[in-house]
Amino acid sequence: MSNKVNRAQQWRLFVNNFIGFTIIFVLLGVIVFVLFRNAMLTSTDQALRVERSSRLNGGMLTKKPMVQGKQPGKQVQAGKAIHPFMTTTLIFNDAGKITNHAQLGSRYDTLKNITLDKSQVGQLHTIQVGGKYNFRTLLVKVPKSNSDKLVAGKYLLIMENIDPQKAAMSNFTRVLLITMGVFWLLSILMSIWMSRLTMRPILKSWGRQTEFVGNAAHELRTPLTIIQNKLELLLTKPNDKIIDQAENIAIANSESQRLQKLTQDLLALARSDSNTLQTNFENTHVASFLQHTVEPYTEIAASQGKQLVLAPVVDFSATLDQNLIHQLMNILIDNALKYSPKGSTITLSAKVVGRKWQLIVADQGIGVSEDERKRIFDRFYRVDSSRSRQTGGNGLGLSIAHWIVNLHHGNIAVKANYPHGSQFVTTLPMNPPVGLGGHHEKKA
Ligand code: ADP
Repeated sequence: MSNKVNRAQQWRLFVNNFIGFTIIFVLLGVIVFVLFRNAMLTSTDQALRVERSSRLNGGMLTKKPMVQGKQPGKQVQAGKAIHPFMTTTLIFNDAGKITNHAQLGSRYDTLKNITLDKSQVGQLHTIQVGGKYNFRTLLVKVPKSNSDKLVAGKYLLIMENIDPQKAAMSNFTRVLLITMGVFWLLSILMSIWMSRLTMRPILKSWGRQTEFVGNAAHELRTPLTIIQNKLELLLTKPNDKIIDQAENIAIANSESQRLQKLTQDLLALARSDSNTLQTNFENTHVASFLQHTVEPYTEIAASQGKQLVLAPVVDFSATLDQNLIHQLMNILIDNALKYSPKGSTITLSAKVVGRKWQLIVADQGIGVSEDERKRIFDRFYRVDSSRSRQTGGNGLGLSIAHWIVNLHHGNIAVKANYPHGSQFVTTLPMNPPVGLGGHHEKKA
């Protein structure tokens, strides 16, 4: 089911990316095409305008009323005309009849079908003649007062052959379409790659979440089952006194305490996931803060026949969230007590290292093997689950510790303690960047 959802999501991302790419390519293609076509026609249109002003000024028409193609001499007379060889002019009388067919020679047969549309005076148009010749045209109305009697009061259709431009355009369009097609195909691969890339963290956190929920359910089920069994047992013995069932009641009670601790831890981790925790960073005098925090634990240690010692701490201050660091120490000291034998000593110390400070909890207990050192910070990970059950562990403590340290932009590592046991070394910046909510490269 989850795979189906993920695949649907990935497909949606792919389609979105692909549509995005397609829109960009089409827009780019259209813009390039339009710009290229305009650039092509600009010089032709310019030539037509030059020709028009030349005609209206009576320029070359005083000598030669019609400019015809393929006559180099005309270029000189046309003066400013840019492409005179390619220029043909049709002269229409008021009735729309071509009056310069003699000068057009053999081309008249092809051009005679062109009709006069007086409404197009002053307008630029593209026309096709004889099914294959393309011209850009400009229609000019010559005033009656024009010095050249041959054209005075007539209509001139100045035509510029644009077949080379057309050919270049179609070549360019072909190249453009092929290029766009290739890039369009590439964009499919790109879209697949991008959708995969986007999905990767989603899939990762999805997997982590599923695993977390599965583990949490599993952890919750055990104490609940025990409590339920004990209560059902009590119901079968309605006449018993509490004293008779004290052991079962005590077990149910301790399991419910375990359940409470578990739900608290789960809640802390859920908050760490959603980044909703309100932190309260404040400048703290570390020595007195540690002294104050450790005190109650020394009594607990003593009651277990162990010793908890706070090594002398130099005078320094650091910015930290006292509640969270208290929780961190609680986890580390609790573990040190859980995993070390009677008569052993747990030492807590703090020192300044450059612009950071370290909090070290060292015990003389069972220690953590090299292989396990990274994994013990994973959620629900326990080196020896049967032992942890006895000690009441749920494998969440160090994940929470890791999250707290991350929130402070620090790091936590475990080392071997000499001659045996382990050392949990927490390194924290003196002044963490407050308010950023910590970096979560690795979720606790
Ligand atoms: P738990 O609640 O089981 O202690 P933690 O996340 O706090 O869960 O610790 C994970 C595991 O790391 C523990 O199950 C234990 O195996 C190991 N561990 C933690 N602290 C110590 C320690 N001080 N000495 C030896 N092993 C430890």
